[in-house]
Amino acid sequence: MSGHNPLQRNYADVLARIAAGCRQHDRPLDAVRLLAVSKTFGPDAVLALADCGQRAFGENYLQEALDKISACGHQRPELRLEWHFIGPIQSNKTRPVAQHFDWVHSVDRERIAQRLSDQRPPTLEPLQVCVQVNISGEASKSGCPPQDAIALARQVHALPRLRLRGLMALPEPSDDPLHQRAQYAAVRSLFEQLRAAVPDVDTLSMGMSADLDAAIAEGATIVRVGTALFGTRDRPARAC
Ligand SMILES: *Cc1c(COP(=O)(O)O)cnc(C)c1O
Repeated sequence: MSGHNPLQRNYADVLARIAAGCRQHDRPLDAVRLLAVSKTFGPDAVLALADCGQRAFGENYLQEALDKISACGHQRPELRLEWHFIGPIQSNKTRPVAQHFDWVHSVDRERIAQRLSDQRPPTLEPLQVCVQVNISGEASKSGCPPQDAIALARQVHALPRLRLRGLMALPEPSDDPLHQRAQYAAVRSLFEQLRAAVPDVDTLSMGMSADLDAAIAEGATIVRVGTALFGTRDRPARAC
């Protein structure tokens, strides 16, 4: 796609980076999906990117997301956008997540998984779930410790209204490609252990604007990209 406005150009550039990463690492061109992270941007930005062809959007902040989902649904119901919750989840806020999202990438404890399953409306498909792993071990980060991830994933797998898809990681930021790659390699090896235990997992959600190439090299199947699509966020992303 030759871009006419900045958003179209950014979209084409990100898709080209993903395709180049797939080629370079001998992966099929459709092995990596783009999740457009639209946090802090309004429904107009989402709908403009949807007009470029994007359908899957990721959100971190619940109230902001609920307003946006509702606005986009009212304005363009025919688009059938797919919404992914990728932010920290408080256990008293699970119901709207279970009601309004297609995917949750940030399940990091059993209590949250149980509540999401209990609260998933029977009229909807099972909620697609990734277990978030705190790979860098930073105390401030969400995510379960790597040594607990397989057990938590098995619990998710056993819940009736959740469908376990795989793992999500949000490593500590680094400008060093080798360090990026090493962190993603650790997630990949955990994913391989998980796949040995639960063969139907298929998703490794990792890689952002600054490091999606390293993540694709290590087997990412969903990259979550905000800044490279929508530009710099005014409101600093809250620590998560
Ligand atoms: C904000 C965010 C992203 C996107 O980060 P960019 O650097 O803007 O691409 C991805 N994943 C999570 C969990 C985020 O909070």
